[in-house]
Amino acid sequence: MLLEIKDIHVHYGKIAAIKGISLEVRQGEIVSLIGANGAGKTTTLKTISGLRPLTSGQVLFDGQDISRMPGNKRVEIGIGQAPEGRGVFPGMTVQENLLMGAYTRKDDLSADLAEVYELFPRLAERKTQFGGTMSGGEQQMIAIGRALMTKPKVLLLDEPSMGLAPMLIAQIFEIIKEINKRGTTVLLVEQNAQQALKLSDRAYVLETGRVVKSAPGPELLHDPQVRAAYLGGH
Ligand code: ATP
Repeated sequence: MLLEIKDIHVHYGKIAAIKGISLEVRQGEIVSLIGANGAGKTTTLKTISGLRPLTSGQVLFDGQDISRMPGNKRVEIGIGQAPEGRGVFPGMTVQENLLMGAYTRKDDLSADLAEVYELFPRLAERKTQFGGTMSGGEQQMIAIGRALMTKPKVLLLDEPSMGLAPMLIAQIFEIIKEINKRGTTVLLVEQNAQQALKLSDRAYVLETGRVVKSAPGPELLHDPQVRAAYLGGH
């Protein structure tokens, strides 16, 4: 087991956003969290990466309780996150943005940089272009590439397909599959449930801060309730 969340509760002020979520991610898996707006998907990822404190419960990584560990330490032990909204530095070049992901590393970065450019040829073509002038899809590539530069054991992806044209969505999902094939475990939050479930070994359905269902991705694709609620009922 790489990542284990045990009965976490998270509040924003007095409002309970997460009301007792438990989930597991095994080494090598792609796991998705799906659910309506406000279900608590982003908050769950932020709790794992240390951007939100939990009120109670535990986050275990590689068997270690990291519930109170600062976010920067979590990056060092192998938790990488590409945040929702991307967070690309607009006044830095593509390459500088990627290198920011690795600023705590002291080892040689050239092989990892080359791998990111191999996964995202578009970024290789535009190394010196400012991040802020890249398109939405390209900025998404930067955000994922930057997270990969931390050499994560698990990559947390928050809505990687958001705002992208259909062709780019397909591309991003292909790249996620490839990243996983090369050995990185993936925990994915997606509104695009259809694509996410197709790609996922397992998925959890969240509703108002709770897990209401979990099963292998392809199984949920055929679940009538999931189809009605998240897949447009087709
Ligand atoms: P979406 O798909 O819309 O991003 P989500 O499933 O990721 O939704 P969260 O963003 O985790 O949901 O939000 C869970 C709940 O917490 C929501 O009710 C939301 O309004 C609330 N919430 C999130 N961020 C804050 C915040 N900074 N302050 C107060 N409430 C918040």
